[in-house]
Amino acid sequence: MPMNRREFVASTAVSSAIAGLSPIVHASGSGDPDVIVIGAGLSGLEAALTLEENGLSVLVLEGRNRVGGRVYTLFDLPGHPEVGGNTIANAYGRCIAAAARHNIEVVNLAPRLFSNRSGQELFIGGERVPLKDWAMHPKNPFAGELRKLPPWSWGDAMFRQHMPFRDLENWHDPKYAQYDISVHDFLTSHGATDAMIQLGFDTNIAYGTTSRDVSLLQQAYADHWMAVNRGGVSAFSRTGASNVSTGVPAAGVPPGVLIGAFKGGNQKLPIAMAKKLKGDLLFNRRVTAIEVTDTGAKVTCSDGRSYKAKSVVCSMPFSTLRHVAIDPLPEPLQYKAIQSLGYIPITQYHLIAKRPFWLDDGLSPSMWTDGPLGMVLAQKFGKTDDEVTSLTVWARGLNAQYLDRLGPEESSRLIVSEFERLRPAAKGLLRVGAVHSWSADPFSAGDWAIFQPGQVRELRASIAKPHKRLFFCGEHTAVGSRGMEAAFESGERVSLEVLASA
Ligand SMILES: Cc1cc2nc3c(=O)[nH]c(=O)nc-3n(C[C@H](O)[C@H](O)[C@H](O)COP(=O)(O)OP(=O)(O)OC[C@H]3O[C@@H](n4cnc5c(N)ncnc54)[C@H](O)[C@@H]3O)c2cc1C
Repeated sequence: MPMNRREFVASTAVSSAIAGLSPIVHASGSGDPDVIVIGAGLSGLEAALTLEENGLSVLVLEGRNRVGGRVYTLFDLPGHPEVGGNTIANAYGRCIAAAARHNIEVVNLAPRLFSNRSGQELFIGGERVPLKDWAMHPKNPFAGELRKLPPWSWGDAMFRQHMPFRDLENWHDPKYAQYDISVHDFLTSHGATDAMIQLGFDTNIAYGTTSRDVSLLQQAYADHWMAVNRGGVSAFSRTGASNVSTGVPAAGVPPGVLIGAFKGGNQKLPIAMAKKLKGDLLFNRRVTAIEVTDTGAKVTCSDGRSYKAKSVVCSMPFSTLRHVAIDPLPEPLQYKAIQSLGYIPITQYHLIAKRPFWLDDGLSPSMWTDGPLGMVLAQKFGKTDDEVTSLTVWARGLNAQYLDRLGPEESSRLIVSEFERLRPAAKGLLRVGAVHSWSADPFSAGDWAIFQPGQVRELRASIAKPHKRLFFCGEHTAVGSRGMEAAFESGERVSLEVLASA
């Protein structure tokens, strides 16, 4: 999908916010660099800076006209909402350390999110269902005690109860290969019906497109990350800061919980990192071919320009790397991983309300729906704790795919009319400030990576293997952490690999 005007304006604003990062950031020295890093997201930048600190010369090639990759802040909208990576939490040690190194302040949003909260409204089939009525509601498909849970908590409860192993951090250990089955098969084997799975997992899905294309081991990996972060990540990004297990707003901030963001917008971190590079960072360099030998590599871009180095670090998501010609091809399993690793579809609409219509209808501005609106998260980045600066509509999975097919204009109209249908008080008050489809974005072609059933067993160990002088990083190559922390984990690992091989 071509960038629409709003996005173009947002990108231009970002570009001007990083004044000084014109296409060539630093005057280069002569000769080929030691390393070419493809991609100026968190993992590529972390690798580039670490390699430079260790005496290597680095050239960074970035396809977009901005840094940050899947960390992307809308600096021109009220409150600077995030289109990509939005939350860090307790176990994000590398992110927190990087913020300190680059003089970026981490703000703990937990007090703000846990005070003055009104939770989120549940809408099923276009009808608002007060949470107190949900357990007895005719559209509630769940059984027994789980009928008391709102749909967004049902899956978590099933996994907590039935996950067949407890040391979730070892999700990739071959001894658990037997559990590399679909979440759908797993839930069915524990008595779940299709109706339960559809509402409790597939609707506003967090991994995969449906429960059939995500591995239970992927879920174990995500559950591990949620546990070590004390629920902080999902408390914000999946349930609008209502209590994860019950859906009822909790009384106060759970002790010691960090729900963090970088002050002024998360993209400030990659911008600060890019400014520290000694070598060149070239924008608008879409890599189309990589040739590797045992002693060096050549990278070619869509404009026909080629660059040579002793090593190449590739941080591109596999969803985009699969469109790059690699010569010679990587070994068969790595090639298969590049071609087939799953990515979740997510499309976001950033809405600005002319006035707080939620004060008129007395409901929370945040919603969880089984319709086109998906989840609506009120962004509270104003001067006071309860000021709502914008509303983010998160469409995921099949819903995102459907909206993408309509295109940004028609789908925006649908989103606004659906919003007004569910919330008549919002009529005439909503403006779409930005739309972003991560699937249609040619430099991500999806959101975060997903292991599909069988892929952990067959492909995981091959994903990050160096291929001659080509090395791999990016969140999809991490094993211990997820999201932005995974990007840093992988940048750290790949730097050590390159240095050890130099
Ligand atoms: C909607 C959304 C919400 C998220 N929420 C969270 C969250 O709350 N917490 C969290 O921890 N994480 C979250 N994440 C995930 C997090 O943002 C990513 O895991 C992380 O930023 C990935 O970094 P990366 O360096 O691996 O990849 P990227 O940031 O994707 O970097 C790869 C770079 O490669 C470039 N590139 C791609 N193709 C080419 C090409 N052909 N030529 C040249 N360059 C190319 C891209 O432009 C990009 O800059 C979220 C992501 C999204 C999209």
